[in-house]
Amino acid sequence: MTKYDILIIGGGAAGLAAAVSARKENSNIKIGIVEKNDRVAKKIHATGNGRCNYTNMDIRSDYFYGDKAFVDKVLSQFGTEDALSFFKELGIMHRVEEGRVYPISNQASAIADCLRLYLTENDVDFITETYVNSVEKTQDGFKVGNLFAKKVIIAAGGKAQPKLGSDGSGYKLFESFGHSVTQIKCALVSLKTETTVTKGLKGVKAFARVALYDKEKQIATDRGEILFTDYGVSGIPVMQISRFAKKGMTLEVDMLPDLSRKEALAEIYERVYSLPEREGGELFSGLVNKKIAVPMLKWAGVEKTSVKAKDFTDENIRNCAEFLKKLTLSVLGNNGFENAQVSAGGVELNGFNAETMESKLVKNLYAAGEILDVDAICGGYNLHWAWATGAIAGKSAAK
Ligand SMILES: Cc1cc2nc3c(=O)[nH]c(=O)nc-3n(C[C@H](O)[C@H](O)[C@H](O)COP(=O)(O)OP(=O)(O)OC[C@H]3O[C@@H](n4cnc5c(N)ncnc54)[C@H](O)[C@@H]3O)c2cc1C
Repeated sequence: MTKYDILIIGGGAAGLAAAVSARKENSNIKIGIVEKNDRVAKKIHATGNGRCNYTNMDIRSDYFYGDKAFVDKVLSQFGTEDALSFFKELGIMHRVEEGRVYPISNQASAIADCLRLYLTENDVDFITETYVNSVEKTQDGFKVGNLFAKKVIIAAGGKAQPKLGSDGSGYKLFESFGHSVTQIKCALVSLKTETTVTKGLKGVKAFARVALYDKEKQIATDRGEILFTDYGVSGIPVMQISRFAKKGMTLEVDMLPDLSRKEALAEIYERVYSLPEREGGELFSGLVNKKIAVPMLKWAGVEKTSVKAKDFTDENIRNCAEFLKKLTLSVLGNNGFENAQVSAGGVELNGFNAETMESKLVKNLYAAGEILDVDAICGGYNLHWAWATGAIAGKSAAK
């Protein structure tokens, strides 16, 4: 039976960070990473649209969901500067876009490669294509399949995008040791909405404010670039509010968020009066994406896109303003774990020591990454959580 000092279950962001910091802490121990995929870091390649937004210049617990006191303790040990220098030491120069940090080469593969190369060069074993079904406590350590380890770090991720490896199996491993797991839900996911009105908008991007309503009550709001799809609405602001969305709620889309309703209406009247001969289909060009005109005019009761501005009724004009300022769509659900970027919920934090990430129930057992009951908004925070908890767990396990 192969014996390890530290075995890490899951070769994702948290597991790889744990291995790097364990090796840096102690060059004399045997470290292995058990990964079900045929290679490690599969998800990292898909992050940030292939660019990997790996941390943020403004890391605070305000951007995380979960026990803030616990998150604060983790972030005080591993903040932005720690993330930057962790990767700088592995060869990554960074660039910043509105606070979001990317590798300067703009390639997520750079982050995956620098971790994999460091670990290969520093004698960490990759035990790939190995699915961990159970971890058993023995007298002097743990049995993981046919492997033995003195210490185990479980970093098997959540349930988001199982095609990349994380299928929720890690939760059961912790439950077998008496740890509690909260309800797991999708977060950072596109929303399915009724599509009768938006059908013609498929593929259209707009800078918008989106707001989620439960009857009259506003539940969440955000703004940024959205994308209309054949099933509903996508884009970062939609993903940010998706964790609160439930079937039966409504999504309000404001495609002119910098204009008040009155200003939007005045702008449309201004166009109608100054360009009376212009056809409806062309009238809104320069104000919103041209493709919006067709479904908007239909919704506004304008018979054809060839109807000239001078023939618009007051009701048509008011309806156009309403469409652009307050397009109201019924939420049918979300796009599921298959498409979510993270899972909300996880192994309860009160079972762990935030200074070490060690279990309070089982000595020498550690947790790191998305498997824990913490998730965050878009912007590099979820990966930061994975690096931070991984680095803390790896370092303390290696001591
Ligand atoms: C498309 C996409 C884009 C994203 N973009 C960003 C971004 O730009 N910035 C950001 O901050 N966050 C981003 N995220 C979120 C971020 O990638 C995750 O929060 C982060 O990768 C979680 O790291 P982790 O190591 O905890 O889990 P994972 O990365 O999911 O890794 C878990 C690993 O464990 C393995 N595993 C699971 N179960 C077992 C088992 N039973 N036996 C053996 N191995 C197992 C899996 O195969 C996987 O390799 C994105 C997510 C997705 C899906």
